Amino acid sequence: MTIIIRPAVFFDRDGVLNHDAGYVHTPEAFVWTDEAVEAVRHVNDAGWLAFVVTNQSGIARGYYGPEDVARLHRWMQGELGRHGAHIDAYYYCPHHVDGCKAELAVECSCRKPQPGMLLAAMDDWSVDRGRSLLIGDKPSDLEAARRAGIRGCLYQGGSLLRLVREAMAAAGPPAGES
Ligand SMILES: [Mg+2]
Ligand SMILES: [Zn+2]
Repeated sequence: MTIIIRPAVFFDRDGVLNHDAGYVHTPEAFVWTDEAVEAVRHVNDAGWLAFVVTNQSGIARGYYGPEDVARLHRWMQGELGRHGAHIDAYYYCPHHVDGCKAELAVECSCRKPQPGMLLAAMDDWSVDRGRSLLIGDKPSDLEAARRAGIRGCLYQGGSLLRLVREAMAAAGPPAGES
């Protein structure tokens, strides 16, 4: 059996795939950024893995529950699917030290800048770490990428497709090819 190792693009969610309006947890509040769907499809079409890694401290703070996050991610997947795109897996951190839910008000290893969500994805999937990259809109995203040993790219608005395409091209060919 051959295990196919694929590079991955890790997308931060709020501020990268959608405009960060603060604690977005419903489809009504979710607005895709410029060419976000196309960016995900570009990752799919290249044969790379596409992950979402998102801090959702709103759960620890009691603003919404994990079921809201799951519902929103299902909705996102449906929207992407209508355009021939998909996210391979969604990872979120529900924790925050200032949370009102005791069991979630902890110093965890998954809230970015901790790399826990990235490492979990790398555990769950066969990921070519050398070529993988993260797209984030905050220094804490880039720090999580650094700690996971992958490249981080800052998204500052504009076409997400263009940034993703350039970042993937800069990853070069798979090891062993030239
Ligand atoms: Mg963000
Ligand atoms: Zn966490």
